[in-house]
Amino acid sequence: MRILVVEDEVKVLNFIRKGLQENAYTVDTASDGEEGLFLAEENEYDCIVLDIMLPKVDGYQIIRTLRSKRIKTPVIFLTAKDTVSDRVKGLDYGADDYLVKPFAFAELLARIKALVRREKDKPQDVLGVADLTMNLLQHKVQRGTTVVELTPKEFALLRYFMEHCGQVLTRTMISENVWGYNFDSMTNVIDVHINSLREKIDKGFDQKLIHTVRGVGYVFEQR
Ligand code: CA
Repeated sequence: MRILVVEDEVKVLNFIRKGLQENAYTVDTASDGEEGLFLAEENEYDCIVLDIMLPKVDGYQIIRTLRSKRIKTPVIFLTAKDTVSDRVKGLDYGADDYLVKPFAFAELLARIKALVRREKDKPQDVLGVADLTMNLLQHKVQRGTTVVELTPKEFALLRYFMEHCGQVLTRTMISENVWGYNFDSMTNVIDVHINSLREKIDKGFDQKLIHTVRGVGYVFEQR
């Protein structure tokens, strides 16, 4: 776990760094906004602890710049001013959480852990297997450069396959997870949908992604 701390007050910076290091985090630090922004853009962090009032570039500007460049690292901002407008401004600019100074280290640690966990649990926006990609936000599927039009059911089915790439999926698992219920007469419905999905994403491509496991079900993978 790697954390960036941007803070110009030496005492506060050392206090945070020491606490994080004692909890086995790797810590990078910056004491002005310019250096902080540079590090945040250059490296991958699990979380950034960001003071607002900083020399050269302030914390608001840093968050805005990062978000405009689609750097989505979770940011906790530190604010000395406990006014509603300051907090709202930071969150509006794309910060994930805030802490009002002075704070207890345990509080900061708990917030960092919660943010990192939330980030890990977040579903991915784009799934990819071989040259097939699924953009969940845009509801768009592409095989190579070919855009594939899917029905909502086919889309749900493909998503389930892609999220369980390499696992053997029985028809029972597929019907429970994609249709939300399971009964024997579903078998045919599933096979019909899988055949139509195959037509759309595998037909005409050398590398097939949907494979039948005889007597068991299906596996989705690059072979
Ligand atoms: Ca400051």
